[in-house]
Amino acid sequence: MKKILGALACALLVACGGGGGASLDGLVAEKKGRVPGPGACGVEDAFVVTAAAGVRLSQPSTLTREAAATLNNWLAREAIPAFGRRGGGLVAIQVPSHYACRTRNSRPGAKLSEHAKGRAIDISAFILADGTRVSVLDGWNGADSRVLRRLHASACGPFGTVLGPNSDVHHRDHFHFDIARHRSGAYCR
Ligand SMILES: [Zn+2]
Repeated sequence: MKKILGALACALLVACGGGGGASLDGLVAEKKGRVPGPGACGVEDAFVVTAAAGVRLSQPSTLTREAAATLNNWLAREAIPAFGRRGGGLVAIQVPSHYACRTRNSRPGAKLSEHAKGRAIDISAFILADGTRVSVLDGWNGADSRVLRRLHASACGPFGTVLGPNSDVHHRDHFHFDIARHRSGAYCR
């Protein structure tokens, strides 16, 4: 954990060298501290992340320190290698949702979503350097099925909850990753 904190602090100073946890290089984030939300919503120790592992996020995303670090590591260790040199490599991810004060699947009366705590991020597409867009909606059962299923599987474990098109209709066009820890281990569908 000490290593993660050190690397995050380093990223915040911009001039982040190769020393210490190399896999955290490339995190570009602004420290926000506590983001108060209505009711039980809100983010403790929030970071607004614009890029992770050198991969740009389509919108600045408010995440807890742990969620930001988990995303950074997953992109570096799994997502970037999964695309390799295809299309010049992975340069951006399409993020339809990050912090949002809402319940699961926005259903009234349902349990509060991990999004409401800044502990979740949704990814709908992976953008390569040549402009290729690998989207969950078009690719899951299409030409990009293999890489998307690999990405989904590789996120399971680093993230405690991983949902995709096989989980339910709400996730047919995006992956949901959150850092919830379940007693029975990671929940991935
Ligand atoms: Zn989600």
